[in-house]
Amino acid sequence: LTAEAQEVLDEIEEKNVDFLRLQFTDILGTVKNVSIPAEQAEKAFAEGIYFDGSSIEGFVRIQESDMRLVPDANTFSVLPWKNSEEHASARLICDVINTSTGEPFEGDPRYVLKQAIQRAEDMGYQVNAAPEPEFFLFEEDEDGRATTKTNDAGGYFDLAPKDLASDVRRDIIYGLEDMGFEIEASHHEVAQGQHEINFEYDDALTTADNVGTFRTVVRAIAAEHDLHATFMPKPIPKINGSGMHTHLSLFTEDGENAFHDEDDEFNLSETAKQFLGGMLDHAPAITAICNPTVNSYKRLVPGYEAPVYVAWSDRNRSALIRKPAARIPAASRVELRSPDPSCNPYLALAVMIHAGLDGIEKGIESPDPVRENIYDFDEEKRAEYGIDTLPENLGEAVDALEADEDIYNALGEHIGEKFVEAKRQEYKEYLVDVSEWELDRYLETF
Ligand code: GLN
Ligand code: MG
Ligand code: MG
Ligand code: MG
Repeated sequence: LTAEAQEVLDEIEEKNVDFLRLQFTDILGTVKNVSIPAEQAEKAFAEGIYFDGSSIEGFVRIQESDMRLVPDANTFSVLPWKNSEEHASARLICDVINTSTGEPFEGDPRYVLKQAIQRAEDMGYQVNAAPEPEFFLFEEDEDGRATTKTNDAGGYFDLAPKDLASDVRRDIIYGLEDMGFEIEASHHEVAQGQHEINFEYDDALTTADNVGTFRTVVRAIAAEHDLHATFMPKPIPKINGSGMHTHLSLFTEDGENAFHDEDDEFNLSETAKQFLGGMLDHAPAITAICNPTVNSYKRLVPGYEAPVYVAWSDRNRSALIRKPAARIPAASRVELRSPDPSCNPYLALAVMIHAGLDGIEKGIESPDPVRENIYDFDEEKRAEYGIDTLPENLGEAVDALEADEDIYNALGEHIGEKFVEAKRQEYKEYLVDVSEWELDRYLETF
């Protein structure tokens, strides 16, 4: 056993952990669990735990369904809810191994991200990432089902007593801190019932793991308060939806921020601008991964602080990419504003990284920043500035993904195919549905 694995075994003993949840995610980003008694931990580290992958979304065909989970010792964490001194549960995030080949399973999103990180390493970079997940807290009805009724009437950065949800948010933060998160800030968002909690940036793999954990903890602790936390991108029409802005930077092997340049007007290095250029170039293709639901496209409309136009800016928030002000060189970074919290964080980070690295590899020149509010531009003015728009719906987004070889191939054949197939199906189901809106509009008119 590795030293890290040994440490985990000691901690299991110390903290009276009796059950271990081995976690991994499916292609859609849902966290899956296989629970094992703590006595099995040593075996799990030594040999992995076998499971049947045929029932996991998009994993394998029935005839080749044996998979092996190998826990990553760095991800050990005691779960902060439903614990006592005598009994605790913990989780470990796992890599998925194909038992017939002994190789990493190419349908494992964590592996796809690891490959993106490897590509960066081969170019001499370490990728840092920080997400800003937003979510709504809604009341439950008598049967415990989620409604879209909010339990507060706060607004952006409002303080108690209007922000009744601050108690819940505080408990959520304690829960996250118990699991090792460093919380940087938390605030009420623009919309009623909407919240944001920011955690410290980390390497890209840890950050993707963290997003999965974050969503689990937020939902679990909200539920203890009889509230439903949702990461659905646009639960209520005509008010802000929930995004997951993602900040990215590359560090060199000696710990320098490769995105910082003191002498540049935006403090962005050439490398940063090429990375940004690559993300703009591949923006239509990465949208299906960063915004993977039918509902995602109800958020990406003008007027609600969500991006629609493929441009970058050092000032305004209507652009797809923003260069946030940085107090110190280490903090120079770019912020992609399109991702929403319904995405698979492993795949989303993987495609963002590949898009940016492709820009560096090709030496792409990034366009000038756009400083005006692009929501106010008409089509003509956008054309004059050369500003494209993001895909308008899931169908268009999937087409754009398939059309972009760099990005599609970065997913690997397995995930690329299964993802496109699942999303086409989802979009088709949506298209044949008849919505409330249509009934309201037409039922009595015609
Ligand atoms: N909720 C907005 C979005 O959809 C972002 C608002 C903000 O963080 N300023 O992206
Ligand atoms: Mg924020
Ligand atoms: Mg926000
Ligand atoms: Mg932001």
